[in-house]
Parts: sequence; C-alpha cells; structure tokens
Amino acid sequence: MLNKKILVEWDRKHLWHPFTQMKEWMEEIPVIVERGEGIYLIDTEGNRYIDGVASMWTNVHGHNRKEINDAITAQLNKIAHSTLLGYANVPAIQLAKKLVEITPRGLNRVFYSDDGATSVEVALKMAYQYWRQKGEPRREVYLHLDGAYHGDTVGAMSVGGIDLFRKTFDGLLFESAAIPAPCVYRLVAGQNSDTVRDYCLGEMEKVLQKREGEIAAVILEPLVQGAGGMIVSPTGFLKGAAALARKYNTLLILDEVMTGFGRTGKMWGCEHEEVVPDILCSAKGLTAGYLPLAATLTTDEIYEAFLGDYRDFKTFFHGHTFTGNQLGCAAALANINLFEKTDLIRKIQPTIEHFKDRLQKFYTLDHVGDVRVCGLAAGIELVRDRITKEEYPATEKVGMRVCQEVLRNGAMLRPLVNVIVLMPPLQITIAELDGLLEIVYNAIERVTGEQSRA
Ligand SMILES: *Cc1c(COP(=O)(O)O)cnc(C)c1O
Repeated sequence: MLNKKILVEWDRKHLWHPFTQMKEWMEEIPVIVERGEGIYLIDTEGNRYIDGVASMWTNVHGHNRKEINDAITAQLNKIAHSTLLGYANVPAIQLAKKLVEITPRGLNRVFYSDDGATSVEVALKMAYQYWRQKGEPRREVYLHLDGAYHGDTVGAMSVGGIDLFRKTFDGLLFESAAIPAPCVYRLVAGQNSDTVRDYCLGEMEKVLQKREGEIAAVILEPLVQGAGGMIVSPTGFLKGAAALARKYNTLLILDEVMTGFGRTGKMWGCEHEEVVPDILCSAKGLTAGYLPLAATLTTDEIYEAFLGDYRDFKTFFHGHTFTGNQLGCAAALANINLFEKTDLIRKIQPTIEHFKDRLQKFYTLDHVGDVRVCGLAAGIELVRDRITKEEYPATEKVGMRVCQEVLRNGAMLRPLVNVIVLMPPLQITIAELDGLLEIVYNAIERVTGEQSRA
C-alpha cells in the first residue's frame, strides 16, 4: 500500500503540474484524488469533495458512472486502439454518425483528434487549406475576441486573447486580428448589454471590411468565454457575428469545447441563437469527462474542397497517432446514449433555473462585483471595490484563497484569477447544488472579509 507521504514525496520530486508555480506547490500538501463517485472526488485519505468544476469542465453524468464504465470495459475487451490512418474502426464510425445526428444540420463530417486545443488546430488548418484550394490564398488571417481561450498549442494560442497566457510566446504566434469581447461588466461603464453587443459587432465589421478577402475565419466561443473569466455574451451577439461572417464571405469556427454537451442548457451553445457554424470544435464533455477525445465537425462544402486525385495534393494534411481511438469513441457513444436515455437536457432545466436564482444571493456580499451565469456554468467576480470595480491585484490571490477555503469545507474548485468558477457535473441534484453554493458563499464571505480588515 502506498501511503500519502510517499506519494507527496514522489510528486514533489518528479511531477510538473500544468499552470502551476511549482515553487509554491512544493510548500503545500496536495490533495491526491484516488476515486470518484457521482459528483464526489475522494482522496487517498478517504475525504470526499464535491467536484465543483466537473474536473476541469469535463464531467457530465458524474464519476464512476456504470453505463460508461461498462461501455469502456466492453470495448477494452475487444481492442483498446488501432489506427484510423488507412484503416477504420467500429466505434469511430458509429460515433461519427451519431455526432452528425446531434449537431446542427449541415455539419456532416467528423475529424477526430485528442483534446480541445487539437480540435481547434484542426479547425484552423482546415480553414486555411480550404481557402488555398478554393483559390483564395490571401485569406490567411483569423479574427478572434479579446479574452478568448482556445487551448495552449501554438496555433490555438495564436487565436487566443488572454495576455497572461500568450505574451511569453508572442514571437511564436501567427497573425490574428483581435476585437473587443462583449463584456458587459467591464467594457464601457454605464452601457447595457444591447449597446455592448452592437459596439463589439461594429468593431468586428470594421476589421472584416478593412481586411476584406484576408480573413480565413472568425473563431468564437459561443455564448460564454470560459477561461477568459466566464464572460457571458449579450443575447444576439453570436447571431450578429455569424451574420457578419456570412456577409463578408468568411468562415465561422465555433469552439464548443466547453459549451458543448449540455453545459449551457442546450446540447450546443449555438442552438440558443440558431447559428450553424462552418466548423464546430468539441472536446471536454464529449466523453463525459472520461477520456481525451476531440471532434471537429464541418460541412459538405468544406469537405468537398479537399476531394481530388492524389496527385492534386488536396488531402487534408493532418492527423494524430490516436485519432479515433476506440476507447474514447466508446465512452462518447455511451455519453450520448445516457443523454438520450435520461433525457438529461430536459432534466437539468429546473436545476439551471434554481442555480440562476440562488446565485443572485451572492450580490449581498460586499466584494462580489458581478455574477455571470449561463446554463450550469457560472463565474463570480470578486472585486476590491464594488463601486469603482477596482480589481484585487492578482498577487493577492484572493480567488485561490477562496478556493482553498472551499476545499477545507468539502468542495474542489479552480478559480480564474479573481473569478470563482462553478461548473458542476450536469447531473448534480438541486440539494447537492445548494450544498456547494453554501460552501462557496461562506468562503467568499470569510476570505474577502479578512482581506478588507487586513
Ligand atoms: C478547455 C478549452 C480548450 C482547450 O481544451 P484542451 O482539452 O485543454 O486542449 C479550448 N477551447 C475552449 C473553449 C476551452 O474551454
């Protein structure tokens, strides 16, 4: 039996954690997760924590869900992996058919990869090569939003808009035009969501006009910018952006890596505004949070531009070793079956209403500046001064300290600087959700209270 002391020692000696200052990591005793059960994570000492951010926004039906375990096991007893390069496999075919059925009409082709960032790389390269093959090689520039997050590979970073993540790597990145994000809380004081939406769409149109014929694609996170701070777009922004992409004859890539699979209260974020993109990226919830698998879907129009004789070299020159992995595809199929069997989208509607309602209570806390919510995803922005919206300096790590307090009380979260993110597994019950909200409310009250006295 391994005891925790030895595991901590090995972790400190050999592991490098993502997005983590390891010097500080070495000074803390980490929670080491050993098991999961429904919405709970259980550590090596048997402590139970509510998985308040669904294990980095991935988990859908809870951990250790029998139906998904069984599907993976059944697949495992046949084969774990064989290549999709030059050969086919059973669950990759079945899943492609299923994904086409459950995504907006017109997205008829599925290209697999391994995680969110690669699904975006695939989308960017697909758009780029498409325009070359359509005889428009000047279309080389992408258009993205400030604060956008599309993953950490070099291509995905290039269309990312979070300065903290990208500034170190600036020299490596290719060109992408940025427009202001429709952030109602921060953008222009005193404006409302309609004026913010129209202003941002206006800025988008200016770029599309000025660079007509040069934009390969507009890339967006539909409805809500996740890692940028849970910035919820004003109603109509997505529809307006899609109309502009059409008007200027460029492609629309929707990154549904976070918003897909029910997170916003519909299967896909884009359904809320009846938008159909040219390319749609999916990962995170695709396997219900079980295995790394991603899918990039596109239209016949784009797909057909890649058809030709071999000597035309119109082949899509992209692939990953584990593309279409059987275990991942089996998990994704079981995930979709569970959505259907449990009628999950319908079932979560009251939970979403309740969530939205209860979150209003956070405004009674002095240091809560803004509460943003979309489906079962929320961001609670903590500020030093509510009137001036003055931010806590990142160095005070207020968000992190709230999450540490939350952890001591039985839930696991991960903040985005001063934004406390809540993104529980979709199958969380209303009673469980209330438990989580109470822990978070008390933690914010305690930590921000101490902070203002200090
Ligand atoms: C998480 C995320 C990604 C990156 O996904 P990875 O699996 O971490 O590479 C891309 N886009 C969005 C919107 C995300 O939330």
